[in-house]
Amino acid sequence: MGIDLHLDASWFIIVALLIYTLGFIEFPRELHPRAVAPRADIVSIALGIAASLLLFASVLAHEFAHAWMAIQRGIAVKRITLFIFGGVAHIAEEPDRPASEFLIAVMGPLTSAALAAVFGAAWIWLTILDSTGVIGAWLTAPIVLTNILAQANGSLALFNLAPGFPLDGGRVLRAILWGVTRDLRRATRWATRVGQLIALLMIGSGGALFFFGSNSGGIWYALIGMFLWNAASEGYRQMLLLETLRGVSVSRVMTRVVETVPPDISILDFVDAYVLPRREQTFVVADGTITLGLIPFDQIKRVKRAEWRVRRVRDVMIPRARLIALAPEQTAASALARLSASEQDELSVIENEQVIGFVGQETIARYLKLQSDLAR
Ligand SMILES: [Zn+2]
Repeated sequence: MGIDLHLDASWFIIVALLIYTLGFIEFPRELHPRAVAPRADIVSIALGIAASLLLFASVLAHEFAHAWMAIQRGIAVKRITLFIFGGVAHIAEEPDRPASEFLIAVMGPLTSAALAAVFGAAWIWLTILDSTGVIGAWLTAPIVLTNILAQANGSLALFNLAPGFPLDGGRVLRAILWGVTRDLRRATRWATRVGQLIALLMIGSGGALFFFGSNSGGIWYALIGMFLWNAASEGYRQMLLLETLRGVSVSRVMTRVVETVPPDISILDFVDAYVLPRREQTFVVADGTITLGLIPFDQIKRVKRAEWRVRRVRDVMIPRARLIALAPEQTAASALARLSASEQDELSVIENEQVIGFVGQETIARYLKLQSDLAR
């Protein structure tokens, strides 16, 4: 699907923990039920590794289901990240319609539920087969494996359906409230409150389990609760920000300083005579009044220093045909989406075939900061 997969450093912690729990405790206990202190062997460790990888393949399937639906609804997906608490599909922009949000959110839990059903059916079938006694003891391993996968996918579906933003269930709730009230801000506020309530419950019950129930698993619930609390608050801030940007045009946030450079000077001259004294991010390459392309500062960094004398601006610029252009009247929110989907730091704003300004993450951030400073 053209989506990058990122493995966060914290992901390796959870994988190691899972392999240890399954390969060194769970599988030895199930495979040697009569032993007093069952020991891990090659078979149990191999099964632990296989089960852990299949668990994360299940998480990936869940995230790919979100991503697939986002692409179907015309929304780009930047990447999928696996980390200590599971996975996230990074969608380039927030859905602009409740129906899109609903469908994208619901696809993940549906996929997990379907996987739970498949593994559950396999587990039942293997258990029945085992009870007939036709096949030997080697059925134990696949029975335990399918049982683990059915349970994990079932929990993944159920947990994610909890109606607190930014969990999938919270997004479903928000989409429904949004559709009914036509008020995204109010819908997000309610869904976020429920999300924060769920986070508090997890922190509270996790803490109680840990301190009073002497159950070390409690700390895990508390950590996930804290993660959810942050994500809920962050999600709400993001929404407020996006809403502000939806009401502002590109022409208001863009920088209007447009510096031009001739196409045939060397990179060395370009740096000395233009980049250093004027400190702009991006320059327009123009031959007289004809715009040939753009040369952003980071484009120069790709050229080896030894070649700065011989390579010309024309050789390094992004030619006009490849420019991602913004229109001055489109919203800053849509500009931000285009920016994050592209690899460029700044996009050009073009009117009547002329570059009239630039918009980058920094430009938008500066505009927002100025706004909030003035509102104080
Ligand atoms: Zn999900």
